[in-house]
Amino acid sequence: MKKILVLGGGFGGLTAITKLKRYAGKLFDVTLIDKNNYSLFTPMLPEVVSGNVTPDNIVFPLREITKKNNSNFIRDTVLYVDRENKLVKCEKGEYHYDYLIIATGSTTNFRGNKTAEEHCFEYKSISDGIALKYFLIELLEAAVSTPKEERRRILSFSIIGGGITGVELACELVDFIKLKIKKDYSSISYDDFEVTIFEYAKNILPAIDESQSIKAQQYVEEKGIKIINNASVDRVSDGVIYYNQNGEVKEHLTNIIVWTAGVKAQDFLKSVSNERLPDGRIKVNKNLTPVDAQNDGIFVIGDSSAYEYKGKVLPPVAPLAMQQATIAVKNILNLENGFPLQDFKYIHFGYLVSLGKNNSVVNLFGLKFRGAFAYILWKLVYIYKIGMLRKQLGVFFDWVMVTLFGNEASLIMNVEGCPGGVLKSINGYTIKVNVENCKRCSHCVIDVTGKITCGIKR
Ligand SMILES: Cc1cc2nc3c(=O)[nH]c(=O)nc-3n(C[C@H](O)[C@H](O)[C@H](O)COP(=O)(O)OP(=O)(O)OC[C@H]3O[C@@H](n4cnc5c(N)ncnc54)[C@H](O)[C@@H]3O)c2cc1C
Repeated sequence: MKKILVLGGGFGGLTAITKLKRYAGKLFDVTLIDKNNYSLFTPMLPEVVSGNVTPDNIVFPLREITKKNNSNFIRDTVLYVDRENKLVKCEKGEYHYDYLIIATGSTTNFRGNKTAEEHCFEYKSISDGIALKYFLIELLEAAVSTPKEERRRILSFSIIGGGITGVELACELVDFIKLKIKKDYSSISYDDFEVTIFEYAKNILPAIDESQSIKAQQYVEEKGIKIINNASVDRVSDGVIYYNQNGEVKEHLTNIIVWTAGVKAQDFLKSVSNERLPDGRIKVNKNLTPVDAQNDGIFVIGDSSAYEYKGKVLPPVAPLAMQQATIAVKNILNLENGFPLQDFKYIHFGYLVSLGKNNSVVNLFGLKFRGAFAYILWKLVYIYKIGMLRKQLGVFFDWVMVTLFGNEASLIMNVEGCPGGVLKSINGYTIKVNVENCKRCSHCVIDVTGKITCGIKR
């Protein structure tokens, strides 16, 4: 039986697995490889930070899903692809393939800014979301016992990148902090905290329709979020952002800095193709094969691929990954049956951007909505998109509970450490999360008592 390897169990990889269900175990031996044993539903990550949804409800168990789809699952990290021998080399083993679907998504792109890499939080994974949530609560606790004149410095959050991810996060942060101040931290006042977005373009959300991005900017500012437009962040140090605005170098004092200004493909893609964009994405033909490896049975989809459509490379979004997965699977079947490969055609459904409680901007098939109706639409579309009943129910009940009783701010995890390799201690038991991914601080130290000292001073 021919072997299909699917690398990455995110939006693209999981769609491929479900499309292969009918053939898996009969025509093909299908295996999914992912470094995690779960898949993350990224559009709801901002709601993990605000506590609107519990983390468990927006991750999907890959072992269970692959089993239901007659496929195998291997938890391993891909290191490189040996095209000549049709092998994928991973940390724990190497795996042969006849066909390969690469869907390993992206990582944070600091665009060569080493200072940002060292001082900013990443915001990509479930542990980034959880860590941010507990840092936020920790800071609210700290602010209570801090003199008023120093509080604003402690409760100052900056988000670099005013795209969908950054704006959604900023809105959730503000909603959460305001609610908590009103209900639980009444000694803190609204003017004691500050959330700032730095955006390179003249408006936030530059990727959406301009009329909606202008409206969104107005609304976000009315919400109390400071927006610094036309800003290019040059350097970040402990507590200071140095940025260039219209040729003038300026400084902004802050505490927590989150970087949401771009993504890049995984490094191992170098072994697959030399034809890549500067952000590492592999240039693909219309049939989704790499432009310099058309006959190797390899298909590249989602954030890993650079697919040109109407003269522009399409931005990395979930619907693109899912639609490409369907064509990649069809093309594997076409190859098996000796049919010509099918071209991929992107169907743009529009976009959905949450601006926090009771407001969103939505464009569905060209129909534009904003305000409370758009917010309900956002919720309905995404709860449908979760696609797994028990998770849908989980998210639904999370929302009901938060609507009835508000978000909780129990500090059940003491989060210490650096943004890249978040270290957590729970009830005295120290666990490490993402330490192997700690790119910025390689000097986090755990002493014999289990106490963690972070290499980055904050
Ligand atoms: C906070 C946030 C919010 C977002 N919101 C939206 C939104 O509202 N709408 C939207 O359309 N898009 C959104 N996106 C973008 C969207 O998540 C991506 O475009 C989409 O996930 C890409 O799908 P993919 O299949 O290419 O990769 P992913 O879904 O990222 O999946 C990649 C998988 O590969 C695995 N992997 C990575 N490297 C390796 C390796 N070396 N070895 C083994 N496994 C590996 C990962 O663990 C992961 O499971 C958001 C992204 C973020 C970070």
